[in-house]
Amino acid sequence: MAKKLLLAGGGHAHMMLLAKIGDLTTEGHEVTVVQPSNYHYYSGMGPGMLSGFYTADDIRFSTRFVVERQGGKFIRDKVIRIDAASRSVELESGIRQEYDVLSCNTGSFIPFDNIAGDNDTVFSAKPIERLLEAQKKIVAACSKPSLTISIVGGGAAAAEIAGNVYHLATENGCPDIKVNIFAGSKLMKNASPVIQRIVRNYFEKLHIQIDESGHVERVENSTIIMENGQSHTADFIFLATGVKPSPLFTASNLSTGPDGGLLVNEYLQCRDHPEIFGGGDCIYYQPRPLEKVGVYAVRENPVLLNNVIASLKGGMLQPFDPGGNFLAIFNLGGEYGALQKGFLSWGGKLSFTVKDYIDRKFMKKFHGMEKE
Ligand SMILES: Cc1cc2nc3c(=O)[nH]c(=O)nc-3n(C[C@H](O)[C@H](O)[C@H](O)COP(=O)(O)OP(=O)(O)OC[C@H]3O[C@@H](n4cnc5c(N)ncnc54)[C@H](O)[C@@H]3O)c2cc1C
Repeated sequence: MAKKLLLAGGGHAHMMLLAKIGDLTTEGHEVTVVQPSNYHYYSGMGPGMLSGFYTADDIRFSTRFVVERQGGKFIRDKVIRIDAASRSVELESGIRQEYDVLSCNTGSFIPFDNIAGDNDTVFSAKPIERLLEAQKKIVAACSKPSLTISIVGGGAAAAEIAGNVYHLATENGCPDIKVNIFAGSKLMKNASPVIQRIVRNYFEKLHIQIDESGHVERVENSTIIMENGQSHTADFIFLATGVKPSPLFTASNLSTGPDGGLLVNEYLQCRDHPEIFGGGDCIYYQPRPLEKVGVYAVRENPVLLNNVIASLKGGMLQPFDPGGNFLAIFNLGGEYGALQKGFLSWGGKLSFTVKDYIDRKFMKKFHGMEKE
């Protein structure tokens, strides 16, 4: 019997499902994808796009085109509530959309919202599209005699943005660029001590300042106000204070983990509603909490594909195995990378070249879907 499949978000965890829409529509199923943008951006290449090393087209693919070409329906909108009892979702525009099976890949957001005044020069690291807006404004400001850019946050995203924004400004002729990171506590404290040293040494050469004296309390206009009372002004401010799962699930009264992510079992399936699945940053994987990195979203693809199709057509569910440690390579700008896998840590151009190769290969698959 033909069924209705709804995909909320076309993120990293839905890539294999998106590629199979044609098979499902040919069998008579109705497939709808809801996403706020026509494109999905690959975050791993986001900081590289900020510096101008990649174009927007290098790092995004047209979800709308891929869905519609295979006979699916694409709705440019946002799912704001799931009504599991009536098996329908409410969209921001007010439309209701029914489903037999729902899969959620709505990602995460930066929860820092203590911002007042003019926000035109304040950018959050997510959604990745914001980095493109930031790039245009910074390039336009590079003719000023000096520019101060501050990054609030102490994780990998903050470090990647700092290095790449520095290179964006210098390569666009900024005569005097100052980049400051307000890391709260220790910069990249979850990385190995060797990686921390590599990042620090590289930033020292670029005169990127790292403030580890305490947390930022709020941002008012162009000023960063710290919990210790100090304040610092900047021409541009980036917020990279860590992510939280999409608020969709708490708004829908579904079972969530402590971070607000959709609580899913080993089959990536909602505990209380077996016709709801989820993957990527928006879930809380009950067997063990997973880091919010694209690696897990990508690893979840085949399991989501199998289980969503099994739920539509009947079949065995497969459990998800998160796997062991993963290769992480940080793009620090200027074609300089820091690589970490288990006990191995390595900094330099080669690390960046490896990341560039892996990332371009990953995107090639999705650009291939646009061409088929
Ligand atoms: C600057 C930066 C660099 C990073 N670099 C790396 C890296 O190199 N390697 C790595 O492994 N991880 C990296 N990460 C982490 C990585 O971004 C996330 O783990 C990854 O994006 C998660 O993928 P996702 O598909 O769950 O979410 P997302 O990539 O955020 O995708 C979610 C999708 O859902 C859509 N959406 C959102 N809300 C709704 C809604 N309500 N209704 C419908 N659609 C919705 C969005 O438009 C988007 O297309 C980085 C993060 C940042 C911020």
